[in-house]
Amino acid sequence: MAEISEKSFKRQLHILLAIIFIVATALGIRLITAPKHKTGSSGPREVMGTFCRLVSVAPTNSIANNSMEAGFSELVRIDAMMSDYKPESELSRVNANAFKGPVPVSPELIEVLSIAKKYSALSDGAFDVTIGPVVDLWRESQKKNELPTKEQLAEGKAKVGYEKLILGDDNTVRFAVEGMRLDLGAIAKGYAIDKAVEAMKRTGATAGLVDVGGDVKTFGAPPKPKTHWIIGLQDPAKEGSLLLTLKINDMAVATSGDYRRYDEVEGKKHSHIKDPSTSKSVTKLISVSVIAPTATIADILATTVSVIGPEKGMAMIEAMENTDLIMIPADKQKDLIHTTTIRKYVDNTQPPAGYTTVSELLKKQQ
Ligand code: ADP
Ligand code: MG
Repeated sequence: MAEISEKSFKRQLHILLAIIFIVATALGIRLITAPKHKTGSSGPREVMGTFCRLVSVAPTNSIANNSMEAGFSELVRIDAMMSDYKPESELSRVNANAFKGPVPVSPELIEVLSIAKKYSALSDGAFDVTIGPVVDLWRESQKKNELPTKEQLAEGKAKVGYEKLILGDDNTVRFAVEGMRLDLGAIAKGYAIDKAVEAMKRTGATAGLVDVGGDVKTFGAPPKPKTHWIIGLQDPAKEGSLLLTLKINDMAVATSGDYRRYDEVEGKKHSHIKDPSTSKSVTKLISVSVIAPTATIADILATTVSVIGPEKGMAMIEAMENTDLIMIPADKQKDLIHTTTIRKYVDNTQPPAGYTTVSELLKKQQ
């Protein structure tokens, strides 16, 4: 074995320590000077018959881009599965065959239908994805420009009811009544947003947001110096204007309203949201926004409150943890009604003109 002299050992040790010092300093400087995260934005894209936008914060640009692509792919995948406009979708296959016998479906569709049934039970059937026949009736009515008759409304109602939707333990769906049709218009968008967020996180995004048609979920902290993601709520009275802005971190917000989508019959606009107990369009609220931990739940609850109205709606949301509500009643369109705990979300830096905004209402209450 070669013997190393003490002198040469010390010299080698010094060289080694010097190298470690230089490398550590270089790394340290790089860590301090390099921006910690990159932020990417998808810009507007089309999905689910509306526009979507994804924002990703990630360690590198390529991770940010990949995560936005992964999120967008999820939106497209869930739409292809749950759209009732696409004849080849899994949902359309269920609608065509589930009365003849149980139809095997993907775990995601079963998950959505189980959540839907849970909220149907919770809302006494106000929220009901078996609303399809009533939606069809009104689409037909719009085409003919003739209001549905009492008999037609009753016929529609007979084919609606979440208890007639049978979910098998083996991931199957069956209809108890002929002519039933599932319509996931009030839940699929929220579910797709949640799935897109999951995919973004999986592919390395540390923060971001997914916005589909104004329904949004954010996750993680926004790029500095911002401390909150700021989400604008559309003013139902004025296209392109904001009603107010919200600070939303790790939460979702969804809006249901009769101002964007409706059936027009005999010169009158009828909300696209239907009350399963009457088969008619809802009328009490112009707009309902719900803030909840997931976009799926926010989407469901915004439609539910539109059906049950302001009083019951407020009571229902107040009783739920971590869930808030802002709504505009049809009879007092300049008043915003909201949960008391909404305070933490309101960005009161930009009150829009003409409205008694939440922030002003909050100031009055203080
Ligand atoms: P948006 O499409 O603007 O997000 P909603 O989330 O409220 O609005 O969804 C409305 C859609 O949900 C309707 O177009 C219809 O497809 C379906 N729908 C209508 N009434 C109900 C109801 N009572 N329960 C569940 N879904 C409904
Ligand atoms: Mg919705």
